[in-house]
Parts: sequence; structure tokens; C-alpha cells
Amino acid sequence: MIKRMTDKIGHFSGHPKQSSPRGLASLPHTPSHAIVDISVAADYHRGSISTERTSSSEWSKRGDSFEAEPLPQPLPRVPSRSSASYRLSDFMIQRTLGTGSFGRVHLVRSRHNLRFYAIKVLNKEKIVRTKQVEHTNNEKTMLEAVQHPFIINLWGAFQDASNLYMVMDFVPGGELFTLLRRSNRFPDPVAKFYAAEVALALNHLHSLDIIYRDLKPENILLNHDGHIKIADFGFSKHCTSVTWTLCGTPDYLAPEIIGQQRYNKSVDWYALGVLIFEMLSGLPPYHQPDHNPVVLYEKIARGPAFIRWPPFDSNVTDLILRLMESEPSKRYGNMRHGADDVFKHPWFHEVNWDKLRNKEITAPYLPKITGDGDASAFERYPEENVTSLYGLPAEDAWGHNFPNFEYTSN
Ligand code: AMP
Repeated sequence: MIKRMTDKIGHFSGHPKQSSPRGLASLPHTPSHAIVDISVAADYHRGSISTERTSSSEWSKRGDSFEAEPLPQPLPRVPSRSSASYRLSDFMIQRTLGTGSFGRVHLVRSRHNLRFYAIKVLNKEKIVRTKQVEHTNNEKTMLEAVQHPFIINLWGAFQDASNLYMVMDFVPGGELFTLLRRSNRFPDPVAKFYAAEVALALNHLHSLDIIYRDLKPENILLNHDGHIKIADFGFSKHCTSVTWTLCGTPDYLAPEIIGQQRYNKSVDWYALGVLIFEMLSGLPPYHQPDHNPVVLYEKIARGPAFIRWPPFDSNVTDLILRLMESEPSKRYGNMRHGADDVFKHPWFHEVNWDKLRNKEITAPYLPKITGDGDASAFERYPEENVTSLYGLPAEDAWGHNFPNFEYTSN
């Protein structure tokens, strides 16, 4: 079964990433412990993976007895959000902030208000060829429906003949991933702060029936004030009950996803358990130095009883175990009291959730930002002149797949 799963979702597709000495200072190191060897922690982004959608009809062809996925109610748009339309010529492209499977994220400056934004550019042909049309449309729809202090804000989206463009706030503090790798591991209160903000964001998404499905330090950005902004909604989905799609990042996949079973929002709570472990130890609990996916998926399927635990505080070990519970009906966040079980767990005892939500708690680390548009917290990427290809006239064979991305002239 695990072998079949591995064949189906393929191998890691993380791309190498250079570490940079700029920007982020290290947090104080906690005492090292013998269990996790930080020297094997690869300093590259772990790629997210996804297969073609496993629709209910495909399942029934295979003889499985899954019911058709119920159609969720349409998501409302955030009413206060401006519905201005944008075009490429509204912006001056400054540099690349990050790369993904389908394109790049650029730092841009508005020609009108001179503010800085981030624009995610996705190549339509690549999206169609890799069967990620639905995920891409979901990304826009979900972001449009969400407004939360710890989640990235989408201003608008448009397309030209070749690409889709999503205009977002620029989040200048870089990735939590970079801070974590540079610090090796976070002291308990630091991990608790980020975990608590993530828990609030997940709870908000779940209250809108949105599953996030790709929690990891790479997707948690730090704002100028040190508070988090969760980015990359490429796998998020409006889902009122269960779904089946195999997607996420291998280290963070819940056992029911590995086992090709139907799953619900609780996979995000499982991933929070993995995230807390990784923040405190420097590596995820089932880290495979040789990146062998078969062994990784076997370990995930066996469950947390087989993890060799670093000397964590007993409260946090308890919380991680309850979040990484293999049986979803017994997993924290997914029981009768929902997210309250997480919020009221003793490890979070000292967290004032209202103050945290209102950003009245000072963040443990303040990114060193010299001014608006300072992107020094981000790695440098070869620019490769890609931007000269944006907005060029071309035959548009794919645009009909993305009806909610407005066409605007250049
Ligand atoms: P994504 O494809 O959404 O995961 O974005 C790829 C990378 O671009 C992220 O890991 C971040 O480093 C960077 N990035 C994405 N969105 C933003 C943003 N709004 N502000 C700053 N950097 C971003």
C-alpha cells in the first residue's frame, strides 16, 4: 500500500535554496540534544506534492464505496474588500521573492500609490498540464473569502494570454523556515507564540469550512511586526465534510492521507503537531535524511508512538501526541469541543487568546526591515529576465479554465 502510494504521489520535488547571511538574526540557541542531528537538516524548501484530483467517479471505478463529495455552499467574498481591477502596467516589478512550481512571486511597486505588493505569477499552461486547475482556482476563491490578521491578504487577480497574476500584500520579514533553519530550533516560548498564531488562523479557516492542507514553516511568513501571515493557498479547499485529494508536503501528511482514505479539516491539526515538533527540534518528527518517501510514509503510518522524542516539556509532548493522533476522531481540534481542546491545552496555559488575536502580544523576533520595500529577508533568485515575457501577446489556449481571473489589457 505504501509503495503504491509513493508511486502515485511521486518523490520529493523540493528545489535547492541557498542560505543567505542577510536579514534574519539567529534566535538564542537552546541546548542541543542528541536525538535530532541538525547537520542533516537540509536548507532547502520542501516541495508540496499533489496528484490529479481523485474524484468520486474515479473512486467508484476502482470499486471503492465512497459517496460523492457533497457540493459545499458557495463561499462569500469578504464584503469590505475592494474589487478594483488591476493590470500588469499598474506595477513596476522590482525583484523575485520566491519561486513555486508554476511561476514566481515578485516584489512590485504600484505606479499609482507607490506602495509595495507581492504578485504571484502562475503559468497557465504549466497549471493545466500538471492538472492543477482546480487547486489554482481554489487558491483565488479561498483567499478572497478570508480576512484574518494572520493570513495573507489578496487584493485582486487577473490574467493575460499566458499567465495568472495574484496581487497580495508584501510580507517583508521572510519565511519562518529561514528563521528556524538559521536558529536551528526555537526555545519553547517562541515555538508556542508561532504555534498559537497558527492555531488561531487554522480555526478561522475551519470556521469558514476551508481546509488549508499545506502547513509548514516555508508557508508561514513574518510581517514587519513579527506576527505571522500564512501564505500559499494553492491546496486550500472549501470542504464541509470530507475530501480525498492526495496533496500536501510529505513530512506533514496525516496518516489518513498517506492511506488514501477520505479525510477532513483535522489534517491541518495533525500538521500543527508536526510544525510544533519541527520548531522545537529543528526537524520534523519523521525526518528521513535520505528523503526516502517509502520509509517516511511507513513511519507516518506507524504513528507517533515510534518517534524518538527529544527532551521536550511534558506538556508539549502531550499536545503534539494529541494533534498527531492517528485516529482522526480522537485528534485534538476534531472532537466535540473542536479547536477549544487545542486552545485550552496546558501547553498554551499562559496564552491570552484575545490579546494574541488583536496582536497585543509582542512577537519574539522583529525582522530587521530598513524601510518599505526592503526584501533583504528573502533569498536572491536569478532574475533570468522572466518578466520580459509577461504580458506578451500569445495564443491563449487555457484561459477558459480560469474564469474568475479577469482579463485586463496590459
Ligand atoms: P508560494 O508559491 O505562494 O508558496 O510563494 C513562494 C514564495 O514566495 C514563498 O515561500 C515566499 O517566500 C514568497 N512569497 C509568497 N507570497 C509572498 C508575499 N505576499 N510577500 C512576500 N513574499 C511572498
